[in-house]
Amino acid sequence: MRKLPQDLVREEVLALTAYHVGEAAGMVKLDAMENPYALPQELQREIAELVSAAAVNRYPDPQAPELKARLHQTMAIAEAFDILLGNGSDEIIHIIIQALARPGAVVLAPDPTFVMYRMYALVNRMRYLGVPLNPDFSLDCARFLAAIEEHQPALTFIAYPNNPTGNLFPETTVLRILEAAPGLVVLDEAYHAFAKKSFIGRLAEYPNLVVMRTLSKVGMAGLRLGYAAGSPAWISEFDKVRPPYNVNVLTQLVAERLLVHADVLARQADAICGERGRVKAELARLPGVTVFASDANFLLARVPDAGGVFAGMKQRGVLVKNLDGSHPLLAQCLRITVGTVEENAQCLVALRASL
Ligand code: PMP
Repeated sequence: MRKLPQDLVREEVLALTAYHVGEAAGMVKLDAMENPYALPQELQREIAELVSAAAVNRYPDPQAPELKARLHQTMAIAEAFDILLGNGSDEIIHIIIQALARPGAVVLAPDPTFVMYRMYALVNRMRYLGVPLNPDFSLDCARFLAAIEEHQPALTFIAYPNNPTGNLFPETTVLRILEAAPGLVVLDEAYHAFAKKSFIGRLAEYPNLVVMRTLSKVGMAGLRLGYAAGSPAWISEFDKVRPPYNVNVLTQLVAERLLVHADVLARQADAICGERGRVKAELARLPGVTVFASDANFLLARVPDAGGVFAGMKQRGVLVKNLDGSHPLLAQCLRITVGTVEENAQCLVALRASL
């Protein structure tokens, strides 16, 4: 008798829910932490020329040496450390998990945090443990260290700053985790351009540290490029798991060229940081709204009725992320990406009208 998908697909997969992406056509899109700015026209032309001459008939160079060299330089990654490239940092997370997924091995992370750590850990049959954050989203250092002691994680993820809460855990706490962890610690610096704090300069001090980043939040979400920096001992193992042609020709070319113009992207990030402060102050003035501290390009806000406010904003053409129901600590919370001045104004008007 022919089997059905539910007879054959692994239980861990059947139990998952697919990553949901809301329909956003025609909306002010403030749900996914994208950089809202287009490239300057001159740069658009430069990229168009580059792309038109690209050898798309050939497989990409699996090692992407030019792009890696550019990342070393632009991101101040010391030559002693190697770089792993991924089709987004999502893929980097998956590669690291696949490499470390020995039976019974534990993945530890604060809770709530970026959902893909759990998703990939479960798909790969690792034991995933989330250590609850405090209700104000600060990290309970003693509790986290106790979890490390008890569960001896093979892998610990710390999003620095954290998603979806936006806050940056204190450097001293992260250092204590790095000292205590028996396994690998991946610091996920997806939002480093807005936090302006990084552990990338401390790789030499901690052989169990890998720093992961993405270009998605600084204007290249559509290109899909993530990277991890760490000792050759780690990166060479991860590289065995990586699909050889995971970063395509166009992404390699365009990302490398845009990194030459990192100053343009940095100015856009600075504008977003300025808007973050302004939007936060406006949100704090709204009746019944609590807005939390953020070092990222989004703000977490608790509103009286997240479902109603989300729907009201959507009806008014503004898409944010409703986190209510995703975690007890996130009850009635919305995550609002910081956009352009105009988008933020539209967002605030829609939010006020929806309260
Ligand atoms: N890490 C964190 C903390 C994130 O918030 C995200 C995106 N939401 C990612 C990784 C993945 O980013 P990408 O795959 O676009 O590089």
